[in-house]
Amino acid sequence: MSLVRINKKLYARYGGAVRAILRDGCIVLQGHLPTWKDVVDACQTAATKYSTTHVVNDIVCDEVKDTPMRLPSLHDDALDGRKPDVLIIGGGISGVSIARELSRWKLDILLVDKEPDLALQASGRNDGEVHPGIDLSKGSLKHHYIRKGNAMYAQVCKELDVPFRRVGQYVCFNKGYLKPLVALYCLWRKQHDGISDTKLISGEELHRAEPNFGEEFKFAISNPSSGCVCPYGLTIAYAENAVQNGAEVALNTAVLSMQLENGKIKSVETNRGTIYPHLVINAAGVFSEDIAKMAGDRFFSIHPRRGTNSILDKKAGAFMHSIASIKEITRSKTHSKGGGILHTVHDNLLVGPDAVETYEKENVATRRESIEHVFAKQKKTMPRLSERDDHSPRRCARHRRHGGRYAQKRNSGGKERRLLPRPARRSRTAGNE
Ligand SMILES: Cc1cc2nc3c(=O)[nH]c(=O)nc-3n(C[C@H](O)[C@H](O)[C@H](O)COP(=O)(O)OP(=O)(O)OC[C@H]3O[C@@H](n4cnc5c(N)ncnc54)[C@H](O)[C@@H]3O)c2cc1C
Repeated sequence: MSLVRINKKLYARYGGAVRAILRDGCIVLQGHLPTWKDVVDACQTAATKYSTTHVVNDIVCDEVKDTPMRLPSLHDDALDGRKPDVLIIGGGISGVSIARELSRWKLDILLVDKEPDLALQASGRNDGEVHPGIDLSKGSLKHHYIRKGNAMYAQVCKELDVPFRRVGQYVCFNKGYLKPLVALYCLWRKQHDGISDTKLISGEELHRAEPNFGEEFKFAISNPSSGCVCPYGLTIAYAENAVQNGAEVALNTAVLSMQLENGKIKSVETNRGTIYPHLVINAAGVFSEDIAKMAGDRFFSIHPRRGTNSILDKKAGAFMHSIASIKEITRSKTHSKGGGILHTVHDNLLVGPDAVETYEKENVATRRESIEHVFAKQKKTMPRLSERDDHSPRRCARHRRHGGRYAQKRNSGGKERRLLPRPARRSRTAGNE
């Protein structure tokens, strides 16, 4: 979309309160708006689905209160003067899997996280669904990596000794007349997007596999390659294996600022001293925008979405054994992942999540309306779901960017090392009993 067209659209909506300019190859929105919803909508107006031009949000918003990042109380100089080859910022699934991969090479790797443990943000609070990539079109990097990653899960989880089950996923439909259209869609996914195992199954087949699903379902899309994994277990296992292979993990260590020289990072300031890394990898989740900004590399903006899940008792786990959701054809313009019901590797059920836009990156309080929303929606998939089985809701913000594709950089060079195996465990910490 051209800048002129974007500005025309913005003017029509906000009457000159916001305008778009081009800066460093990015569309930057400037101006003043009353609510966060307006800000997200304005940025969405400027973003095109598969555009490689990112949208940066510089809009001042009346509703947004200052919510500084939660910082560790620890202050020492334990890392002062360190000169690692690679500094990874963030101990979520992205950071720890990069650390493990890089530990194949003879590199001095230091991973820092501001929290007192790993996986305390999105990576420890998600559904643990290994997606099939059914809702993503070929050509996007997300489609490429989800398909590649999905195929790698069985081997990686075996190497790391973490539970992984390819339980399959059903997208259920209650309007029979949609079947020919959905059949064409499945064919398209197969031929064009390479999701070869996707198939259409009848209502009878669905109910044979999952007898407790809504009786009115006429057919479903079946995605056998979907699976589930313990999200925090996998994150911790990746990190442990990286450490066994020589990487170092420093917890309670927050990156606070960076010194730059000729556009390059010279040093990184933390609450535990100044680090002088050769290479910095930004894996800071919802804070990755802030880290990029410290490095003078502001080319995207995060708009976090709060997601609430209910964790049901294990006895509810017997009601279904896969991942499922109802597909309703509505005119809703909300950008939602939709949510569903998932049988976890620990045999609980997870119901949700919803997806609510928020500017708060670390507010994990639970709201009644979110719980009511996820139950109301998912009872249509499985009517015998009951709030009485609810154990504890988990909530977290996930990161979305306004437009643009996400990219991952590869490090090459050095001699490849064989990874040491992670010693087998007798049992791993389970979810709710
Ligand atoms: C409710 C919900 C459900 C989801 N369900 C699924 C699902 O089923 N399947 C799926 O594939 N994905 C799912 N996701 C998305 C998935 O959780 C995220 O994509 C993934 O966890 C992101 O991992 P990450 O390592 O990039 O970020 P994070 O896990 O957020 O890790 C970033 C880390 O960086 C640290 N950090 C930030 N700033 C600093 C700093 N300045 N200094 C030091 N450390 C810092 C943080 O403490 C944090 O530990 C879900 C997300 C949510 C919220």
